[in-house]
Amino acid sequence: MADRSENCIFCRIIRGEIPATMVATNDHVVAFRDLDPKAPVHVLVVPREHIASLDDSPDRAVLGAVLALATEVAQMEGLADGYRVVINTGPDGGQTVDHLHAHVLGGRHMAWPPG
Ligand code: 5GP
Ligand code: ZN
Repeated sequence: MADRSENCIFCRIIRGEIPATMVATNDHVVAFRDLDPKAPVHVLVVPREHIASLDDSPDRAVLGAVLALATEVAQMEGLADGYRVVINTGPDGGQTVDHLHAHVLGGRHMAWPPG
């Protein structure tokens, strides 16, 4: 049976099969620039392990590692005036890639509520 991560676009980026602009990596999480940025800074923070979404019962340590790297990315990118971390989940949440990821968005003012 094919591994469910075989054709996952983020797993393929993590394996180096698809190019991406890496911003930071560690043993558990990678951060790379979004292909279609929605803000001057738009980085995706992705666990190396294939986890489909927040609804897939991710390990708390994995969630912590994602948020910790998100804040490190924000600092590295100089987002001293603030930023937004977003985890879209499921169809109503606007999730389009079924591999858990946090968006780090910054470099402009973010409206609230989101669309
Ligand atoms: P979602 O809509 O699931 O919350 O976010 C998926 C994000 O992945 C989108 O912002 C989209 O632009 C980005 N994305 C989709 N395919 C690729 C890709 O091949 N490379 C990179 N770097 N980003 C991608
Ligand atoms: Zn994956």
